[in-house]
Formats: sequence, structure tokens, C-alpha cells
Amino acid sequence: MSEEEKSQYLVEYRPGTAWNERKGTMYRWMECKRCGQMSKCSEDTTATTCSDCVAELVDPVEIGYKKSDKPRGWTLKGVFVDKEGNVYHKGVEQPELKGSLKATETEKRIPSKRMTKNEKNELIGIAALNLHKLKRKLQTLRWKKDKKPILSEIKLHSKVASAKFPRNFNREEYLSKYKK
Ligand SMILES: [Zn+2]
Repeated sequence: MSEEEKSQYLVEYRPGTAWNERKGTMYRWMECKRCGQMSKCSEDTTATTCSDCVAELVDPVEIGYKKSDKPRGWTLKGVFVDKEGNVYHKGVEQPELKGSLKATETEKRIPSKRMTKNEKNELIGIAALNLHKLKRKLQTLRWKKDKKPILSEIKLHSKVASAKFPRNFNREEYLSKYKK
């Protein structure tokens, strides 16, 4: 059986040139099954993955899944002390200070209250109702000074009606003002 029949990958015999190879001896090389790069392999190898591909496949797993128990941005703090009492100055460990300071309290993030679907729908309904009323009222007004406050209210209700709540939107305030 020839080499080509034994392996579905390209095989070549190359003379040894490296410091640890015998001069005048032929070495078996095979293309990487992933990228096609030739690398030296043993006589009975039928498929091989080159060292570059192995590094690429292995490294992200080892690094990527290391989970830090430190808060975001801790390396930016002048002094940070972790739960074990390790002291860091701008993210650099100061071994001689270990245990000399109290652990830095990590601020608990206060999650912003999310509206439920029902609460949102209620607001949208109220906004639509108010929009309707205000647009009618607007038609009866003649003067710009009278129209102005109505227009700004219309702007607010339009946003709410399309569920685009303004940044400083206060649900309770809106309800007490416009829910009738
Ligand atoms: Zn490869």
C-alpha cells in the first residue's frame, strides 16, 4: 500500500534538517487536517493537527472561562482589597500589605425597576387616550401661547404611546397626573 492510500491527507518525506534530526534520514510529514500546514509526524499517523491549530483550539478555553470574583473596573482603583485580604494598587498586588486592610466593599448594583408588560400596556392606553383629547383641544385653540403647553404634553404622550419612555420618566407621577 502506498502512503497516499493509507492516509487521506497529503504525506511527504523530507530530509532531516533540524538540529535534532539525523542528517541523510527522511522524515514523514503530513498536512494538518484543519489548516493544511505540513508538520512532522510518526510513521503510523493517519491524521494530524499542527501545533498552531492545537494552540488555537486550546488557549481560548483556558483563558476564556476564568471567572473573576472582583468587581468591574477594580484595576482602576488606587487601592483595592479582595476578600482574601490581598491588597492591590491600581490592579498591582502588594504582597507586603496582605491582611493589613479591610476588604473593599463592592457596591451592590441597584437594578432599575423594569415595567411589566401590563404596566407598559396600561401606560400606552392612557397615553393614547390623552393624545386623542389633546389633539381635539388643540384644534379649538387659536393662539400660539395656548397651543404651546398642549404641544409639549402631546410630545410626552406620543413617546409613551409608542413605548419610548423618556429618560427621566416617572411612572407614578404620570399615572397620578393623567389616569382618569
Ligand atoms: Zn493546522
